[in-house]
Amino acid sequence: MVKKTIQKKKKAATKKKIQTKTKDQIKFIGKVTKIRQKDPAEVIEWPRSITHVHTYGLLSPFFEGLRKGELRATVCPNKSCLENRLWIPPRAHCPDCHTEMVWKTLPNPVIGKIYTFTQVVYAGIGIELSTPYWQVDVEIPGLAPVPKSYLLYGTPHIGMKVKAEFRTKNPTNTVLDYYWVPYEK
Ligand SMILES: [Zn+2]
Repeated sequence: MVKKTIQKKKKAATKKKIQTKTKDQIKFIGKVTKIRQKDPAEVIEWPRSITHVHTYGLLSPFFEGLRKGELRATVCPNKSCLENRLWIPPRAHCPDCHTEMVWKTLPNPVIGKIYTFTQVVYAGIGIELSTPYWQVDVEIPGLAPVPKSYLLYGTPHIGMKVKAEFRTKNPTNTVLDYYWVPYEK
């Protein structure tokens, strides 16, 4: 009787040991690699993804402004400099005298005029807008450049008045956080 009990216990212990081993064994948790070719040597496809870390540096206030529904431009504070216009895309330093620029928020609503436009049907890699979309170059009073952006809806024409709007609810934290909408009545 005693012998039987010991045997039973031994059997149970062995069983437990095997179960533990099965449970703890190493598993493959990756994705099966696709073989692209076998001859003359095997070539596999090994997908990779990368995170590009990018700083906005001295231009950070521009993106902070977009999240708050503001268009912020830079302007040269040097009184003796001939370049006294506003810049969007902003410049950290004056392109003429190299002085560090200062920030100026454009009063809302920002009304611009379409200088030119193009329809983007086949966007390049990295463009995060659905296609087709209208890329518009908009003249903004007081600005030196004619910045590019996009028209959220409607059909553009040259000279069309547009109003700047902002993606403040779910910002992308990129320049896509401002866009234009028709302003004509
Ligand atoms: Zn300057």
